[in-house]
Amino acid sequence: MSGTLKVRVDPNKCQGNARCKSLAPELFELDEWGYAHEIGDGTVPAGLEDKAWLAQANCPEIAITIDEE
Ligand code: SF4
Repeated sequence: MSGTLKVRVDPNKCQGNARCKSLAPELFELDEWGYAHEIGDGTVPAGLEDKAWLAQANCPEIAITIDEE
């Protein structure tokens, strides 16, 4: 059984191309310089798990990690 997912952006790796936000706007937002961070505490609401994995797979900087709780 899989638990709740949590996304996290490593600010040291993110280069701010916003791919995560365009793929999963419910999970990521950009700061005023265009760098991404997870919305809230990163908890992925039910039904958005696929978007979380998609965003992680498409981050060119490998800046997104997903923890399963
Ligand atoms: S896709 Fe990756 S590098 Fe691009 S803004 Fe999102 S976290 Fe940053």
